[in-house]
Amino acid sequence: MSKIMERKITTCIYCGCGCGLYLQTDGNRIISSVPSRNHPVSDGSLCVKGWNSFEFENSRERITQPLIRRGGKEGKLEPATWEEAIELVANRFSSFKERYGSDSLAFLSSAKATNEENFLMMKLARAVFGTNNVDHCARLCHASTVTGLALTMGSGAMTNSVEDFDKADCFLVTGSDTTGQHPLIGSRIIRSVLDRGAKLLLFDPRRIRLSKYAHIHAQQRPGTDVAWINGLMHVIIRDGLEAREYIEERTTGYQELKRVVERYEPSYVEGITGIPAKVLEEAAHIYAGTRKAMIVFAMGITQHTTGVNNVKSLANLAMLTGHVGFPAMGVNPLRGQNNVQGACDVGGLPDVYSGYQKVENPEARKKFMKAWEVDYLPDKTGLTLTEIFQNACRGKIRGIYVMGENPALSDPNLNHLCGCLKRTEFLVVQDLFYTETAEYADVILPAASFAEKDGTFTNTERRVQRVRKVMEPVGNSLPDWKIISMVAKAAGYHQMDYKDPSQIMDEIASVTPIYGGISYDRLEPFGLQWPCPDKNHPGTPYLHKDRFTRGKGRFLPAEYQPPAEEPDAEYPFVLTTGRTYWHYHTGTMTRRTSVLAREIPENYVEINPADAEAMNLKNGEMVSVSSRRGSIKVKAKVTEYVGEGLVFIPFHFAESPANILTLQDTDPEAKIPALKVCAVKIEKA
Ligand code: SF4
Repeated sequence: MSKIMERKITTCIYCGCGCGLYLQTDGNRIISSVPSRNHPVSDGSLCVKGWNSFEFENSRERITQPLIRRGGKEGKLEPATWEEAIELVANRFSSFKERYGSDSLAFLSSAKATNEENFLMMKLARAVFGTNNVDHCARLCHASTVTGLALTMGSGAMTNSVEDFDKADCFLVTGSDTTGQHPLIGSRIIRSVLDRGAKLLLFDPRRIRLSKYAHIHAQQRPGTDVAWINGLMHVIIRDGLEAREYIEERTTGYQELKRVVERYEPSYVEGITGIPAKVLEEAAHIYAGTRKAMIVFAMGITQHTTGVNNVKSLANLAMLTGHVGFPAMGVNPLRGQNNVQGACDVGGLPDVYSGYQKVENPEARKKFMKAWEVDYLPDKTGLTLTEIFQNACRGKIRGIYVMGENPALSDPNLNHLCGCLKRTEFLVVQDLFYTETAEYADVILPAASFAEKDGTFTNTERRVQRVRKVMEPVGNSLPDWKIISMVAKAAGYHQMDYKDPSQIMDEIASVTPIYGGISYDRLEPFGLQWPCPDKNHPGTPYLHKDRFTRGKGRFLPAEYQPPAEEPDAEYPFVLTTGRTYWHYHTGTMTRRTSVLAREIPENYVEINPADAEAMNLKNGEMVSVSSRRGSIKVKAKVTEYVGEGLVFIPFHFAESPANILTLQDTDPEAKIPALKVCAVKIEKA
């Protein structure tokens, strides 16, 4: 038997919990993954994805060499040298810039890549090619959170720490299948309910694992969140449960909030949401009456055309009851991917540089021009992810550079999206695997996995932590940060010459106040939570202590608006999409991991037994699910996890992609698509 050569601590590649784990290697092969016993999040545990995070790296399906499509769009992808591939990318992008202007280009950074790599991607877009068209899949998950919480409180991040889940006495959880998507946080909620008697108020259209532990499980109709949140606030104000002193001292806009929620009487709300008036009343009293109460939410709240209003309403509720700015009390968006928080923090967004410094602010531009030694940076907000593809369809975007993202499976209305990818004149895909998006690529650049490079990820509680190289990159693959630097150099920009990622972090710290005190030596043993403005700052476990980041918290009341598409006679079911416990995002890694692939090998649609009976449908039968945008075939899973009239399909599976069906209508402020609600019909296949 071979000997274990090395064991290094790193950060899990999957969800935003950011568990600490040891990867053990034998030669250039990872052979196991085990939890860190003292880590503040994992605390000696991992979920099934973390335990199995060591297999996909050595998959035979890894891309190990650059590929160039020769013979035009219909031609074949053929092996190329790094020099040839990099030169081609730099030349094509430079020539588009010259002929059609900088805004004919777009760049997708990645919630899976490190902070350092995301910082370089936005530097490449802005400093080298002169465009703010840079975005990533945060647009599809928590764009509403970033906008809604920034407007109300001044910071778009989770207010508390993961360890606060062991201290809170009440959890209002909505739109988050927490045990499935953030398993280590989900288990803390269950532990608090069982061991300490904490109350769980669950608002979710589906029955989920947490339902069993909930004091109240209110199953609202999908897309009616503003109504029930306003209903809670109506009861709180009507019954005098609001935090008067807190409102007076720390907030503005209360009178307007009071006026708006006045008509959301519980019986009126019941008509919209289906939540019984009595249940709403009880939930309002428990939440307002418990001092240590935390709101927890995820994409069931954000992925709507009213996503920003949903988030603002949750912020209003927390401020109304004085439940923000203290340990174990706050508003906690659970970020989905390992580094979606960090990718936003370091500027992988079209309107901000790192640290959420606006590109439209002349002072911020001046600062970055000086740091990056350029005499021009664009001053207008760039295009969002959804706008980038729409503009590619219209021929306005000519070149797109995609790092570690798979829009051909993760984005809504895929038939339309794939048409846009096909029409993109020059598409670069940088990834570990030949993804669905890579099928449309003109150049594929092989990237190293998280185990093959150094860097940092920032987890959902704003903890910046180290990622460590435990093996050499597979084949000729390279870390994303090296590839981006090579492209920059080939395009004639020489201020991206780093020996290692710690130098990139030093640059991030020098221009980013919230990361100002962060350097690799300070990240031992378990990272630092931003804001960490200087070298002596210990990091910040909870936000808005004494005052909100924006000064005073601002109530921004919203009226209920129905979803963009509702069921009708032709499409009578409401479809909601999401993830499973066993798989992650578009399945590029988990579907190449034997244990996970064995558990859930194929897609399914959850349908209520009453609906199945009406259609004479048996569990396991194939059905065709169709919306106005397309159709897929999947197995029916007859289950009470969904109510009558509601169906659920995970979006991990390329053979039957749920996003063929979804809507591309977006929230007007955050431009997040309405992935959580659309109308479908179901027929026996
Ligand atoms: Fe990884 Fe999330 Fe599981 Fe922790 S809970 S092991 S971070 S997938």
